[in-house]
Amino acid sequence: PLPVVVIAGRPNVGKSTLFNRLAGRRIAIVADTPGVTRDRKEVETVLRGRFVRLIDTAGLEEAPPDSLYGRMRASSEGALAQADLVLFCIDARSGITPADEHFATWLRRQDRPVMLVANKAEGRSGAAAAMEAWSLGLGAPVAVSAEHGEGLADLMGEIAERL
Ligand code: GDP
Ligand code: MG
Repeated sequence: PLPVVVIAGRPNVGKSTLFNRLAGRRIAIVADTPGVTRDRKEVETVLRGRFVRLIDTAGLEEAPPDSLYGRMRASSEGALAQADLVLFCIDARSGITPADEHFATWLRRQDRPVMLVANKAEGRSGAAAAMEAWSLGLGAPVAVSAEHGEGLADLMGEIAERL
């Protein structure tokens, strides 16, 4: 089976934008039916010569399990449980929020390998948040701009090295 890379983080940090960038050379769409798309998207792709299964999740915000958000959350947790590497995304423009901290604490307990990704760091804008991100206790943040295509080659290299 291919190594599983899961993109996680609170809503609106740019997970799906990053997913689309990394899935650019997709080999196969594993799950892209209506409903499933709502919950998560999954492709097989190549990152620096490594074949991986890449999964985009919805945010893991608090929600009752019987709600749409609750089901999205359950689906995200399922994806994270099988992750060989979690790309935990934060928004370098807004800085670290309580939701990021909450999620980071939860993630550390899951005992999965995590790479911290500071997205929206185009230009020089991400430097401060990237520094602040060290406080999450998830190691060195990798600064990228998924929308502007900055830092992605480095990120792919780091992912390939960690698998
Ligand atoms: P998700 O909810 O985490 O999946 O986030 P999305 O991928 O849907 O992106 C949320 C918003 O952030 C959208 O308006 C994106 O255009 C924007 N966004 C994503 N990546 C970047 C980036 O690198 N820089 C900036 N400035 N905006 C971004
Ligand atoms: Mg999304």
